[in-house]
Amino acid sequence: MTIGIKGKWVIGFDGEEHRLIRNGVVIIEGKHIKHVGKSYDGLVTKWIDASHHVVSPGFICTHCHAASAPKDKSFIDDTGARHFYMSSLGENLSALGQSIKKEDYPIYTKYSIAELLKSGCTSVLEIGTVGTLGEENAVKLFEDSGIRAFTGQGVSDGVWERSEGADLKTRWLSIEKGLKNLEAVEAFTKKYSGALDGRLNPVILADTVDKCSAALQKEIRVKANKLNIPITIHAAQWVVEFQNMLRMYRRTPIEFLADTGLLGQDLIIGHGWAISGHPLVSYPSTGAGDLGLLAEYGATISHDPLVFIKRGNKMHSHSKYLQAGINVSIGCDTSPQDMLNEMRMASYTSKLADWDCYSGSAKDVFNSATLGGAKGLGRTDLGRISSNALADIVIIDMETLNNVPCRDPVKNIINSANRSDVKHVIVNGEIVVEDGNLKTIDEKKLVSNVQKVTEAVWSRIPENHYLKQTADEVSPQSFKPYKD
Ligand SMILES: [Zn+2]
Repeated sequence: MTIGIKGKWVIGFDGEEHRLIRNGVVIIEGKHIKHVGKSYDGLVTKWIDASHHVVSPGFICTHCHAASAPKDKSFIDDTGARHFYMSSLGENLSALGQSIKKEDYPIYTKYSIAELLKSGCTSVLEIGTVGTLGEENAVKLFEDSGIRAFTGQGVSDGVWERSEGADLKTRWLSIEKGLKNLEAVEAFTKKYSGALDGRLNPVILADTVDKCSAALQKEIRVKANKLNIPITIHAAQWVVEFQNMLRMYRRTPIEFLADTGLLGQDLIIGHGWAISGHPLVSYPSTGAGDLGLLAEYGATISHDPLVFIKRGNKMHSHSKYLQAGINVSIGCDTSPQDMLNEMRMASYTSKLADWDCYSGSAKDVFNSATLGGAKGLGRTDLGRISSNALADIVIIDMETLNNVPCRDPVKNIINSANRSDVKHVIVNGEIVVEDGNLKTIDEKKLVSNVQKVTEAVWSRIPENHYLKQTADEVSPQSFKPYKD
């Protein structure tokens, strides 16, 4: 089948950068883009009218915890732990996470994918679903949803342990545990490489920089080289981790990744903001510092702004990383899992960090959400609309209350578009969102299930909180209940 799209604007790729085509066409044959340009004379089975829309490459989310992130909504806002520098890690998030039941994970995963697709996301680097649901159940969910997934088995040889005070430390397990995880990575990779018509792509999901020992990180590097698959790891994601790495190794998280050999072009670092020179860590850079190391080794930073903004933290700044020569991509990490919102936050936090209207430009953030993600994942066939690239496309209406007047659709995508403007989403040549409706997921049923499941999660929080606090004690309601 040949699908043609006639768009008021098409964001095409010229081999080096995105270009804006006024009144353009995109032709899709099978799972690939066959043609992009001003016109097309060949046969087309189905035309999609995008006469007041922008036809954009689908967005690539490089950080997502699909099975667990929905729990955050209506809960983590306006909360955090001062003694952990406002983070909820090791505190509220642990109690919330432990209150999820096994049977809740598939509902949450489906919900996360639905959220992502409806925000124009076509590829996701997903962390945790294979581990929580089991390989076959996870793969089936990705298969049914229609999204392109980069995922796999988790790897670690340490766990976080905390006292009732604020003393969070790593307790090391045997490296055998991590090596066993790596065997599972290899088995998963052999079984699923190229599965789902190429929509499933194995990745090594190293847990966090302080839960993977130096010895294990070296083994992860060997395995990644052997299997030729990307790696992701959480690192430089909160002040406590930064301080613990100094305490354990006298190295910053980024320096440690360089020491072990994990830092490289195939590594996507989840968050990567707590680095030398950042005001919150009070640790000055030597020479070019952590930014210099990241650039030198060619690693990618997945910039996932919203989850940190909620805690009063931010990367300092999107533009500063780009100027240092670092590849930056965009991810989600918390609810709402909305790539349009994350892109907007990336732009605004960059401007605020630099006190500069030119910082965090729409162009730079759009590039991060498309080409930046593709580069991090080692793909030259994603994040762009060009002949022979995979047909992962989002069509966004620019004649809506949100988006008129539109002179520059890229500026409007970053600054004014929201999910209701996303009309069609195509992944691997298949239409998965049509006229704003998910074709692969029953949205109404899903929404009702998520509410029901999460009410039960909140009720279980005291069983799992280290101080036995209730949901309302951990995260108070905004207003007190009305009394007659
Ligand atoms: Zn994460």
